[in-house]
Amino acid sequence: MLKHPKRAMIVSCPVKMDDGTVKVFTGCRVQHNDSRGPFKGGIRYHPDVTLDEVTALAMWMTWKCAVVDIPYGGAKGGVCCNPKEMSRNELERLTRRYTTLIVDLIGPYRDVPAPDVYTDEQVMAWIMDTYSIFKGYSVPESVTGKPIILGGFKQREEATSRGVAFCIREAIKHLGMTAKKSTVAVQGFGSVGWNAARILHDEGYRVVAVSDSKGGIYNPGGIDPYKVFEHKSRKGSVIGYADSKQVTNEELLELPCDILVPAALENQITRDNAANIKAKIVAEAANGPTTPEADRILNEKGVFIIPDILDNSGGVTASYFEWVQNLTRERWTEEEANSRLEGIMVKAFNEVYETSKKRQADMRTAALILGVGRV
Ligand code: NAD
Repeated sequence: MLKHPKRAMIVSCPVKMDDGTVKVFTGCRVQHNDSRGPFKGGIRYHPDVTLDEVTALAMWMTWKCAVVDIPYGGAKGGVCCNPKEMSRNELERLTRRYTTLIVDLIGPYRDVPAPDVYTDEQVMAWIMDTYSIFKGYSVPESVTGKPIILGGFKQREEATSRGVAFCIREAIKHLGMTAKKSTVAVQGFGSVGWNAARILHDEGYRVVAVSDSKGGIYNPGGIDPYKVFEHKSRKGSVIGYADSKQVTNEELLELPCDILVPAALENQITRDNAANIKAKIVAEAANGPTTPEADRILNEKGVFIIPDILDNSGGVTASYFEWVQNLTRERWTEEEANSRLEGIMVKAFNEVYETSKKRQADMRTAALILGVGRV
């Protein structure tokens, strides 16, 4: 059962383009498993979207929700399109047509979509509105990642990175390290990377390197992520930041540091560079940053890996918080939300850690043992 999605739907979305022509876009929604609760997963708009990839991502969501023990199953959706070449109006028409075609599959107790690659809170607002038109009343709990004014969750943006920081805090406790004496390199300075660098800096870690798609910067004496953010806002990249040496993204991964946080893309740590990684901890903020061969090499070297399905699950946990608040019509304070997130992440980390000790497995295998076992 677990090897196969429960349901997969392919849809064709005819969209009137701004020039008056009609284009047909192919999309899908794959629902992997809902044994533990409604299907949950993002919708991505990308030219490379395929049914196979979306199916794999849907399964990933099932394990992720089970590892952090939130009452959701796993799903994923996608539309094969290039949003960078489409106007806002074209994207709105595409989103509303796609939602109309999958409307029977989704809903607050059935399947709750969220943003993913190249979909944002505006796209979620269009989905919510289209779903609500079908119902005849407003249903904010039908999607997560909405604008705050429509019932979105204020801390969603930083929740993934806060979860990463909680996992690192637990890991260094087990490894006898301290925040003050630990150095950190972060690959990727987007939403997850920037927030992770900022939160870790605030907690006393020394951030020595950060990077974006154009390259990275390194200063063994420490870098202030807030100033780098300001620099990037002005110049469009972290490159050129004063008081630092320029490094490539490949070099960043191999720099001397205690904690490496890949927060950019998949397949960054490979069999070609894994042996050169000097970090004691690899905290996988991105999805799938380590290839299976690299995973083996890192484990042989004794690197402590916090696997993606655990490390970045603060994001889906924040989605869960949004949904719960929408369903109950409650509003939590920032402190309440952060303390609930901490409780869930710390419990999940320690359950994975205990499983790894008990079953003599690495952390990734332990996370899967726990997740698959719960499902
Ligand atoms: P983002 O688009 O905001 O940021 C990505 C960053 O990576 C950008 O700074 C970009 O310049 C950089 N980048 C792109 N190519 C790079 C390269 N070759 N080398 C180094 N940096 C490169 O995306 P995000 O939301 O921060 O997501 C980052 C990762 O985290 C993705 O794998 C995503 O799936 C995962 N993730 C995100 C969330 C979330 O809440 N946003 C939740 C779970 C997992």
